[in-house]
Amino acid sequence: MPMNIAIDGPVGAGKSSIADQVAKRLNILHLDTGAMYRAFGLYALRSGVDMTSEEALSGLVEQVDVQVRYEDGAQKTLLFGEDVSGLIRTGEVSAAASAVSKWPAVRRRMVRAQQEMAKTADMLIDGRDIGTVVLKDSPCKIFLTATAEERARRRYLQQMEKGDETPYEQVLRELNARDEQDMNRKTDPLRQAEDAVLVDSTNMTQEETVDAIVAIVEEVYGKQ
Ligand code: C5P
Repeated sequence: MPMNIAIDGPVGAGKSSIADQVAKRLNILHLDTGAMYRAFGLYALRSGVDMTSEEALSGLVEQVDVQVRYEDGAQKTLLFGEDVSGLIRTGEVSAAASAVSKWPAVRRRMVRAQQEMAKTADMLIDGRDIGTVVLKDSPCKIFLTATAEERARRRYLQQMEKGDETPYEQVLRELNARDEQDMNRKTDPLRQAEDAVLVDSTNMTQEETVDAIVAIVEEVYGKQ
């Protein structure tokens, strides 16, 4: 059985970058499942489909081709073969990903694909429903969080570095809206699995957070 590690948490908890570093330290792959919902969100935007209609989205999700590839250990997300790894990081696509991911038909399809991938290799998977659904039986689950203000502050600084001058208050508002949507949807809402270990990174550096997670993994799977 491959080693499968689940990391869940709200927007901006640093899951993606932390998970990337933990996976590197452990020399295993990192699957960012948010990128898959984002790629489908981008496709839904391009198709002009009504994102409040599960029926319309369920037709679309059956025909979409979202693939994940690894190049030098880094994830590339492909939509019908097109590398959309950069295109899926906009605010518009974030909102679309959150809107499409609340529908059961969409989740079923994505969860199935993620579970198939998990069987193929040692893998750290990050998302919202990994510990509760995708890797329900994994012995190693982490719930990574930080206060909303701290998460918004980090996101704000990150965006500023990229030349995006969205004000802090707006970043915080959008982050709260996405949390609200992810935690209150009926299907597979974001929540901490009962057997997940909570890591609150509010007062921790990235390095400390990576160390803490590696230690949790090693406690379950032994020193890697
Ligand atoms: O993690 P990221 O912010 O890239 O995810 C984008 C959106 O995709 C989230 O806001 C959430 O709505 C959705 N998502 C999800 N389940 C996952 C991963 C992401 O519903 N496992």
